[in-house]
Amino acid sequence: MDEILAVAYDDVVAARGRISGAARRTPVLTSATADALAGGTLLFKGENFQRAGAFKFRGAFNALSRFTGEQKAAGVVTFSSGNHAQAVALSAKLLGIRAVIVMPGDAPAAKVAATRGYGAEIQFYDRYTEVREELGAKLAAEQGLTLVPPYDHPDVMAGQGTCAAELFEDAGPPDLLLIPLGGGGLLSGCAVAAHALCPDCEIYGVEPEAGDDGRQSFRSGRIVTVKTPQTIADGAQTTHLGRFTFPVIRALVKDILTVTDAELAQAMRFFAERMKIVVEPTGCLAAAAVFAGRLDLAGRRAGIILSGGNVDLEKYAGLIC
Ligand SMILES: *Cc1c(COP(=O)(O)O)cnc(C)c1O
Repeated sequence: MDEILAVAYDDVVAARGRISGAARRTPVLTSATADALAGGTLLFKGENFQRAGAFKFRGAFNALSRFTGEQKAAGVVTFSSGNHAQAVALSAKLLGIRAVIVMPGDAPAAKVAATRGYGAEIQFYDRYTEVREELGAKLAAEQGLTLVPPYDHPDVMAGQGTCAAELFEDAGPPDLLLIPLGGGGLLSGCAVAAHALCPDCEIYGVEPEAGDDGRQSFRSGRIVTVKTPQTIADGAQTTHLGRFTFPVIRALVKDILTVTDAELAQAMRFFAERMKIVVEPTGCLAAAAVFAGRLDLAGRRAGIILSGGNVDLEKYAGLIC
């Protein structure tokens, strides 16, 4: 437990200072119907209302804010299934930095359009045959750009941790905290904040059942890599945890849970119908786990991060109807 982790609580505090003028302080939402369904008190942190539509703005803005003058002059490159791309593109625009984004050719049209709309240059790749990390590294080397990856970077992780810190401040420390899991930037950053601010809080990551590399890694103690998972949770189609995120998750998280695509769609429908909010499939991971009864919440307060709200409307309609 005393292993040196890549992110400390002080880094999360520093990140809060850097992003405070730029990021939105998103609301904590509640619903009596949701509480009845889950059998406990649910505190939803609405990152679907964050700038660019997901929590990823926090980590991206924090990382880009720390660039040196030389790095700012050359620009940033990143790879992403969408939300990190928009977050970097918007952060770069706000900070006056050139951005090049490596995106899968099948990324949702709304995400591609939004990224372009922020003035970023897009480089497409095939997510089933090409390795995005390699393409990103090549562009970085050729053009002197600084690579800001979507999750495995201490500044990104610290930025994501601000989300949990705000939740605790606004709603008080919960008994449990459930967090969507892809590569683990959000989970690791929030776990660091939780460990400092509510040390008794149980922290769970929730990932798609089709890609349970996080659970396999957590249980085996080494980073397990899976094939690109086929799931509607496109923000969690990661194949492995990161070398910085994994040790934090191993040290501070209680367990990793999984949910099916059907359970995600059901949660999306609940948010649309009962709470009148659009939450994307990946953003529903944590909520779907409690609605599906994965944990006993009787008499307990659970913090749940709704991590994003970016989804093509046609796809959305197909899933909720
Ligand atoms: C990226 C993303 C996740 C997963 O975050 P990681 O830091 O990769 O674990 C979850 N939800 C949404 C909406 C995302 O965009």
